[in-house]
Amino acid sequence: ASFGFRDVTLDAKQDMVDEVFHRVASRYDVMNDVMSAGLHRVWKDAMVSRLAPPRSGRRPFEVVDVAGGTGDIAFRIVERSDGKARVTVADINASMLGVGRERAEKRGIRTVDFVEANAEALPFEDGRFDAYTIAFGIRNVPRIDVALSEAYRVLKPGGRFLCLEFSAVDVPLVDKVYDLYSFNVIPVMGRLVAKDEDSYRYLVESIRRFPNQERFKAMIEDAGFSRVTYTNLTMGVAALHVGVKI
Ligand code: SAM
Repeated sequence: ASFGFRDVTLDAKQDMVDEVFHRVASRYDVMNDVMSAGLHRVWKDAMVSRLAPPRSGRRPFEVVDVAGGTGDIAFRIVERSDGKARVTVADINASMLGVGRERAEKRGIRTVDFVEANAEALPFEDGRFDAYTIAFGIRNVPRIDVALSEAYRVLKPGGRFLCLEFSAVDVPLVDKVYDLYSFNVIPVMGRLVAKDEDSYRYLVESIRRFPNQERFKAMIEDAGFSRVTYTNLTMGVAALHVGVKI
């Protein structure tokens, strides 16, 4: 069965998203590796390299990682900054945050905070952060334009926005293979490996409905960001959009 997302109200959409991530939280990290054949690691590393958090400085480099779930991006940022960055993981889902907190504790990381928060209404004051990151999160947010305005609001002037998200494959034939994989292989793997076909059907549907590279770039500009550019990763399976608040 499909979730039929097109027909639901925005609040109902958020409820379904919450239910999906609540169900998959404990298996989330393993499933990421299985479904993307490990590629999500390469894409996340590309985002953190682009962020290039400073390794020194008088004050900590403040990052908010929205929809940060189990802390994958946050831990990479801390590592790359030699512990100089302070990362606030903001996610709407207590189950995902719970897994993240446990991982942080196991690794002895004390420079990451986990906060339950909605990307559409962040509980942070204006101009607090040097950078805002969001990886594979924004397509789950019902009102993307509202989340982008919030990103703009919480950044300092000069602060950077970096968004990693599934996007549109831009290579003929590869797009056909990708369709086949998405619509036929992923739901079956979801059933066999995670015993949860519906959640993985949601994953595929949400990727297909998300705006393509150019349309999303325009949305980021509409939120007020300058110098917005994007880089395709793995032929556009994912894209990294960046912008600056000036
Ligand atoms: N960023 C992590 C990563 O790359 O591994 C997690 C990505 S996961 C696919 C999507 C996350 O978005 C989930 O943890 C979910 O709880 C979160 N999310 C969904 N809607 C949200 C909202 N409105 N505000 C904040 N987080 C949200």
